[in-house]
Amino acid sequence: MKAAVYYGPRDVRVETVPRPSAGPGEVVLRVRRCSVCGTDKRIFTHGQKNVVPPTITGHEIVGTVHEAGSGVDAEIAIGMNVVVATVVGCGKCIYCRRKQYNLCDSFTALGYDYAGGFAEYVKIPAAAVAQGNIIPIPPAMSLERAALVEPLSCCLNGQEYLNAQPGDRALVFGAGPIGLMHAAILKARGCSLVIVTDVSDERLAYVREFGLGQTVNTAGGDAVAMILEAAGGEKFDIALTANSVKSTQAAALKLVRKKARVSFFAGIPKDNPVLDIDTNAIHYNEISVFGCFASNLAHYHQALEMVQRDDIPWDRFVTHRFKLDDMVKAFAVMEAGQGIKTVIDCE
Ligand SMILES: [Zn+2]
Ligand SMILES: [Zn+2]
Repeated sequence: MKAAVYYGPRDVRVETVPRPSAGPGEVVLRVRRCSVCGTDKRIFTHGQKNVVPPTITGHEIVGTVHEAGSGVDAEIAIGMNVVVATVVGCGKCIYCRRKQYNLCDSFTALGYDYAGGFAEYVKIPAAAVAQGNIIPIPPAMSLERAALVEPLSCCLNGQEYLNAQPGDRALVFGAGPIGLMHAAILKARGCSLVIVTDVSDERLAYVREFGLGQTVNTAGGDAVAMILEAAGGEKFDIALTANSVKSTQAAALKLVRKKARVSFFAGIPKDNPVLDIDTNAIHYNEISVFGCFASNLAHYHQALEMVQRDDIPWDRFVTHRFKLDDMVKAFAVMEAGQGIKTVIDCE
């Protein structure tokens, strides 16, 4: 089969490799689409500890069941279109016992520890199959909408903590695919104001074109003052950072009202994660600050429901499409920060 094999940072080669076959409990999917995550780009650019070359990355997988090994539940039928949950729990730790697999102390993940979806076929390990990670999609669902399920599931995990209510004022830092998905959720939940900030006019233009909210380009200015001005001087009930810029975490805390909910949705560079913040502002103003990591199976099922909504312009989220042969070009688009979602057509 054809696969984009990762040999190390900046070294991805499209090659012919052996096609996987399904052992007991395993399932092999014919990959239809695999969208490119910011993490895939980061691995391509810098590498990552648990991604040991040569391997195949890609975890936002949409596939068709090709082969099911012995003992696989009959509900996973050959020819069925599915999406795949990324994280595989150890099944033993306290978090796995609570079915919080994304928080598992020793989780493994497709596209990281196991070969992923930038290939014509992908093998889903038995532990993932048994955990329920293969999730059927409605036969009529477009493959590209299905390719949004994984990133959207992560957003829905973060949104669970934020508990957006009709009339809330919401602020999203970062107009990448994740920031736009958050804006779409906040709008769908009835927020009266959604402001998205970024330093790229190109990305902010998508927010307005998709009708997801107002925008502020904070490049070169005092972000807090600029955002407050755009918000008519009123602060926010919800603020969420969907970028890896530490200063936006501090800005988020300065821009929220009493009883606000703040999500540090995105991680920041590991070499400098300590933030100087006024914890009394959190104390006196009853502000809640939440983290978020990946997603759980329930969030995939919620995301699958949500991508079927036609009042959200999901079909416009995919701005770039490439064949597997052009995998390196897809990474170049991501590195240049172009467009919103880049999807690989693996057929
Ligand atoms: Zn992802
Ligand atoms: Zn575990």
